[in-house]
Amino acid sequence: MPRRPLVVGNWKMNLSAAKGRELARAVADGLPPGAVDVALCPTFVHLFPVADVLRGSRVRLGAQDMFFESSGAYTGEVSPAMIAETGATFVILGHSERRHTIGHLEDDWMINRKVRAALAAHLTPILCVGETLAQRDARQTLDVLTFQLTAGLVGVSADAAERLVVAYEPVWAIGTGRNATPAQAQEAHAHLRRLLADHWAAAAAQAVRILYGGSVKPENARELMAQADVDGGLIGGASLKADSYLGIVSAALAAKG
Ligand code: PEP
Repeated sequence: MPRRPLVVGNWKMNLSAAKGRELARAVADGLPPGAVDVALCPTFVHLFPVADVLRGSRVRLGAQDMFFESSGAYTGEVSPAMIAETGATFVILGHSERRHTIGHLEDDWMINRKVRAALAAHLTPILCVGETLAQRDARQTLDVLTFQLTAGLVGVSADAAERLVVAYEPVWAIGTGRNATPAQAQEAHAHLRRLLADHWAAAAAQAVRILYGGSVKPENARELMAQADVDGGLIGGASLKADSYLGIVSAALAAKG
């Protein structure tokens, strides 16, 4: 069965609640018909207001992070059940800004706990992996991806394959305007799928959607998504405007249609 393309917008720490609602409405109203899944990931406090706008539409809701414990003395954290309660069905985990930029500096052990907790709460984790520029220059890209994917999936069984999404996001391409070439993306995605096949089995690996993220724009989306193992995109900057985001959704449809 062909994998259905998926385009996810990561709004990061942008937009007011009112602007987020406006953008969500414009995306829902402008969504082209066709076999593509689309999701928007606002900041935690905008999940409920954006959910209100998206109710009844084809656009899904996602969160940008989540804690792995179900409740307790974890000031500032948000549990899997709390995310699910908003109506969100996706959750981005291990984003490079959380791995490398923000004070928490999340490690692979914590990201794995989050992946397992998301699956247990019937959320779809979007597990982000990707190398830094120094790692690419040192030709360590595939080793980094092997480590991050393997560590992220410890204790996750093949039954989860259809519900798992992986995002390949080279750190040097995020928010920099410099995207991976289609060939670089395909090489990384094919490597990730081979690892999934080794970890589980070929059929399970074929079911997993692997998104590319890193400076995707309407102009480069089609060529990236035309690659055999690129099943859609995780979009940052270009998801903050309805026109550019919808342009990427259309490119995904054109590439995979
Ligand atoms: C991201 O934040 O996941 C991302 C890919 O950002 P951008 O599209 O802005 O590079």
